[in-house]
Amino acid sequence: MRVLILGGTAEARDLAARLVDRPGLSVISSLAGRVADPRLPVGEVRIGGFGGADGLARWLDTHPVDVLVDATHPYAARIRTAAVTAAAQVGVPHLRLERPGWTARPGDRWHRVPDVAAAVRELPALGRRVLLTTGRQSLAAFRPSTGLWILARVVDAPDEPLPQHIRLLRSRGPYTLAGELELIRTHRLDVVVTKDSGGRLTEAKLDAARQLGLPVLMIDRPVPAVHPTTVSGVDEAVDWVSALPVQPG
Ligand code: NAP
Repeated sequence: MRVLILGGTAEARDLAARLVDRPGLSVISSLAGRVADPRLPVGEVRIGGFGGADGLARWLDTHPVDVLVDATHPYAARIRTAAVTAAAQVGVPHLRLERPGWTARPGDRWHRVPDVAAAVRELPALGRRVLLTTGRQSLAAFRPSTGLWILARVVDAPDEPLPQHIRLLRSRGPYTLAGELELIRTHRLDVVVTKDSGGRLTEAKLDAARQLGLPVLMIDRPVPAVHPTTVSGVDEAVDWVSALPVQPG
């Protein structure tokens, strides 16, 4: 049985590692190719878009794939929809692996907003010196926020030069509480902007914000247009794949 994992997340890498040595299974992981130096999963990897749902359906049709696991990031809305459409079109079993979002704890000062545009609007009411962790693709939206000073933490720099009020910090998690506290104190940051990505690797900023009493502007996950069979953890995904009937070769 051949499994295609749509990746770009820690869970996708974990899943590939858990499946790759299973007898009777072969695994290929797919990455979008957005990051210059991606963390690669073990096993076979392909990189680059498929060309929308139709392109993915063609790819599934022309490659020997029996199962599709979409383990892409909770905010990767386009590939998620394409996966549902393409899997249905070709008749390949399809699972969505999506980590849960974060849960507020006592002392948290979270302000939830539906999207980046709402975050840009609400930000000036919450602080002046911003730790922005929403990724390279959202930076353009904060260009007009000239009354603020923004430390934008990104994996890769954007192609376009940034205005003076946005300073880039190139870095990739995981992050520690001590490191996040130091970052916030060094730059005298007074608000954190984040997606509700969930997971342990990047949650230290929330612990640091709680400890220092900082508000967090949290951009909600996009509401999915379609709801495929979904699991929230790698163990469940392994069980789901393992329970599928083996395809005749
Ligand atoms: P997106 O908006 O849903 O996807 C944009 C396009 O990128 C898709 O239409 C598809 O191109 C291609 N693509 C996305 N994921 C792919 C994959 N795993 N394999 C092959 N092609 C893929 O996604 P995004 O938000 O730009 O995220 C891109 C990748 O980064 C995803 O794999 C995601 O898991 C990872 N990531 C995203 C975030 C985030 O905050 N969005 C954070 C961490 C990691 P075609 O239409 O040409 O097929």
